[in-house]
Amino acid sequence: MKAVVWHDVGKIALDQMPDPRIQHPEDAIIRITASAICGTDLHFVRGTVPHMRPGTILGHEAVGLVMELGPGVRNFNPGDRVVVCSTIGCGRCSYCREGYYAQCDVANPKGSAAGTCFFGGPEETGPVDGLQAEYARIPYAHTVMVPVPPGVTDEQALMVSDIFPTGWFGGRLAQVGNGDVVVVLGAGPVGQLSALSARMQGAGRVMIVDGNADRLQTARLQNAETIDFNSEDPVAAVLECTGGIGADRVIDAVGVDAERPSRGPAATGAPHEEHLWSPGDAPDQALDWAVDMVAKAGTVGVIGVYPMDHHGFPLGKAMNRNLTVQMGNCNHRKYAPGLLSKIAAGHADPGQVVTQEEGLTSVIEAYQLFDRRSPGWTKVAIELP
Ligand SMILES: [Zn+2]
Repeated sequence: MKAVVWHDVGKIALDQMPDPRIQHPEDAIIRITASAICGTDLHFVRGTVPHMRPGTILGHEAVGLVMELGPGVRNFNPGDRVVVCSTIGCGRCSYCREGYYAQCDVANPKGSAAGTCFFGGPEETGPVDGLQAEYARIPYAHTVMVPVPPGVTDEQALMVSDIFPTGWFGGRLAQVGNGDVVVVLGAGPVGQLSALSARMQGAGRVMIVDGNADRLQTARLQNAETIDFNSEDPVAAVLECTGGIGADRVIDAVGVDAERPSRGPAATGAPHEEHLWSPGDAPDQALDWAVDMVAKAGTVGVIGVYPMDHHGFPLGKAMNRNLTVQMGNCNHRKYAPGLLSKIAAGHADPGQVVTQEEGLTSVIEAYQLFDRRSPGWTKVAIELP
C-alpha cells in the first residue's frame, strides 16, 4: 500500500509499505476513505516535537471501512463505516473508564507512564503507524473506532477523528458556560472548531485571535469577533472589547508554533511565509497572551501542542490573578459519539473548516503548501478513491 512516511526532519515521502495485518485479537484493519493533515503533523516534520522514529507512517485522522476484525472486536462487521479516534485507549483500564482515554494505562507499548498513545506520533507515543495511508491497523478497535451515523459525510466525520473533539475539549478545559466571553487564540482548524464548540457550550461572545486574514475571515463566517495580531495588540483589543475586565475564558489553540506579530514592538521582520519546515519563533506567545487577556479568576484551557521538555509559563501572573489553567491531550473517544450525533442532527457542520481536498498522490506537495500557511490552506483533507 501507499503511505506517507517520516524519514527525517523536513523529509517525508509517499512510499510503498507492507499492508497492515491483524497483530492482536482486538485489532481491526480498515481501508481508509479519507484522511487529513493536521497542524500536529507539521510539528513532527519541522522537528518542533522531536523523537520521530524514521519509517513511521504519519497521520492521526481517518474515516474508513472495516475490512477485517480480530476475534476480540465484537461490535463491528466488515463493511462498517467508522471514524478512527486519534488517541488510542484500551477501553478497560481505570483511566479509560473515567473518560481519560488520552491517559490510558495500557495502550502505549512504552508503558503506563509513557504518556498519550496516538497514531503516527513520536517514539514515546508507541509509536503506532498512522493513518495517511491506504490501509491501517486499528488497535483496541472496539473503543478506538466509532460508527459513522447515516447522513454524515466523510469530510464531516473526518473532523471527529481529532480536531472537533479537540476544539470541544478546549471549551470544557476552559470551563465555558452560559454568557461567557471566550477568546480563542489561533484561527487554524482547531481554533475554528473551538470557537464553534464554545458557542455550542453557551458562550455569549466568542473572539478569535490570529495573524492570517483569510483565517479570520473564515471565523467571521461563524460570527466570531476577529482580532488580527498584526494590526493591533490582541491583549489591548480584548480589554477594550470587555470594558477593561478581560475574557472569562481563553482557549490556547496555537501551542509551541506561535509566531511573533509581524508588526509592533515584538517584530522581528520575518514574514510567516518564510517558515517552511522551521519552528515558530515565539513558543510562549500564546500562553503570555492568554494569561494577560483573561479576567481575574478566569480560566485558561490549553489544547495547543507543547513538547514534553517545554518550559515557560507565566506562573507568577497566573498565580497572583487566581487563574485556573487546565490543559491536555484530548480524550477523543469521550466526545466523538456525541459530536457525530450533533452533526447527524444538523446542529453542527465541522466540514466547513476543510479548505483543500487532495488525493494521496499530491500529499507531499500539500504538506509543503500547508506548512507555508499559504493563503486559504487551513485544513487539508486527503481523499482516497
Ligand atoms: Zn485504557
